[in-house]
Amino acid sequence: MSVLDSLNKMQADAVEQLRAGDHNQFLVGFLTTSVKLELSNLVAADLDLAGFAQAVVDVLTQHAPIEGCLIGIDPAGLPRIGAAVGLDVELALKHDTLLGQPNTALFSVDGVASGTLHAQEVPAALRAAGFLDEAAGQIATGLARVVESEQLRRRAAAAKALRVVAALDEHWNVAELQELTAAFASLPGVTGATLSATAARLAGTLQTESGRPGAHQIERRFVVDEQLSLVLDIGYIEHPAAEQLQRLDELVLALATGLERIEQNIRLAAEADTDQLTGVGNRRRASKALTQARQMSDATGEPMSVLLCDLDHFKQVNDRHGHDVGDAVLAAFAGLLRTSVRGHDTVIRWGGEEFLVICPSCDTKGATSLAERLIAACAGACAPALPPDHVQTTSIGIAEYPLTARTPEALVSAADDALYRAKREGRNQFRTAG
Ligand code: GH3
Ligand code: MG
Ligand code: MG
Repeated sequence: MSVLDSLNKMQADAVEQLRAGDHNQFLVGFLTTSVKLELSNLVAADLDLAGFAQAVVDVLTQHAPIEGCLIGIDPAGLPRIGAAVGLDVELALKHDTLLGQPNTALFSVDGVASGTLHAQEVPAALRAAGFLDEAAGQIATGLARVVESEQLRRRAAAAKALRVVAALDEHWNVAELQELTAAFASLPGVTGATLSATAARLAGTLQTESGRPGAHQIERRFVVDEQLSLVLDIGYIEHPAAEQLQRLDELVLALATGLERIEQNIRLAAEADTDQLTGVGNRRRASKALTQARQMSDATGEPMSVLLCDLDHFKQVNDRHGHDVGDAVLAAFAGLLRTSVRGHDTVIRWGGEEFLVICPSCDTKGATSLAERLIAACAGACAPALPPDHVQTTSIGIAEYPLTARTPEALVSAADDALYRAKREGRNQFRTAG
C-alpha cells in the first residue's frame, strides 16, 4: 500500500469514526489538516472560478463527515458564484442572507473577494474545533490567485468571441451558436447570455444559452441581409460600465458584419441557381440536380425520371395579351409545378416556356401520374393570369433512367423527343420515351 493509499484509508476511517460520534482530538486535527491540504491543492489546479467553487464543496462533503454544504463567492468585478452539494445552489447564490446562521463561516480578501461557507450539519467535535472557519481561512488564502486567473480568462473571452466569428462559414449552426454564446457569457462582468437566430434557412429559431441571467439584462438585436435575425440577451452582475457596453457593441458589430458576409454568400449562391422570373431553378441547378439524382440512382439501383413540360401555343399568349401576361402565366405554371412535386424533386426552367422536372427514385409509372395531374391542373393554375376565354394547356415528355438513356444529357434528349411526339399528336397530353 503506497503512502497516499494509506493516507486515504486513514482519512476515510477518520470520517467514519467522527460520524459514529468519536470526539478524538487527533481525528479532528487530522481531518482538518487533510481538508485544508485538499483545498490548497485546488488552487494549483487552475480551475475557473465556478469549477473552483464546485471543487470546494466536493472536498468538504467527500473528505469530512458533512452531508450538505454550499459556498457563495463575490469576486470583485466578476459575477457572484455559487456551488452546493446536498443544498440548493440558489441558496448559495443568495449567500449573504445566511449571515448569522449556525454552521456558517465568512471569508474575505481585501479588494479580491468575499464569501460564505455554510454546511447543513457539522459534527459537534468538528464544530468545537472551528472546522468551518479553518476551511474558510484556507479558501481565502488561495482566492486571490483563482480570481486573478478568472479575470485573465474573461479578458481573453472577447478575443475568443472574435475568433469564433472569424471562423464562421456558410454551414454554421447550433454548435457555432453555442460557442458564441459561451464566449459572450464569459465577458467581464457578465453572468450569462442567450443567443437566438431566426431564419427560414434554419427552419425557424435556434437558441443557445450559457450561464444565468444577471441583475442587469441587456438586449441587442439585429437583422442580417433581411434573411436572418439575431437576438442577444446578456446578463451583467451590475449595470455595465460604458467601457463594457462599448466592448459588447464592438463584438455585436463584428458578429453582424461576419454574418452579413455569410448570408450574402448564401443568397448569391442561391440566386445564381435560380430563374428570376419564376423562382424555380435554372439550368445551372439542373446540371447539379441531374448529376446528384443519377449518382443516387446508380447507388440504389432505383430508377429516376424526368418530365419535360412545354406550354402549348404560348406564342399566342404574348401575341394576343402582351408579354406581361405571358410572364404571369409562366410564373403561375412554375407555381403549379412547385406545389405538385415531392420535396426532393427539382423544378427547372429549362428554356422560355419549357420546364424540366427531375424526380429521383421515380419510375415511368410515378412520372406518368405526375404528368396526368399537371395536365389536368394546368388550365386552372394559369387561369388567374389570363382573360377568361383563354385556356392554357401543356404537353409533356417523360423519360426514365437508366431504362431509356444512359446519361443525364441523353435522358433529357429522350424526354424532348417524347415531348415532340406529344405536340405532333395533338398537344395537351404526355408521351413516354422508348
Ligand atoms: P408549341 O405549342 O408548339 O410549344 O407552341 P409555342 O407557341 O408555345 O412555341 P414557340 O416555341 O413557337 O413559342 C414559344 C414562345 O414563348 C415564344 C416566346 O416569345 C415565348 N417566351 C419565351 N420566353 C418568354 C418569357 O420569358 N416571357 C414571355 N412572356 N414569353 C416568353
Ligand atoms: Mg410551347
Ligand atoms: Mg417551347
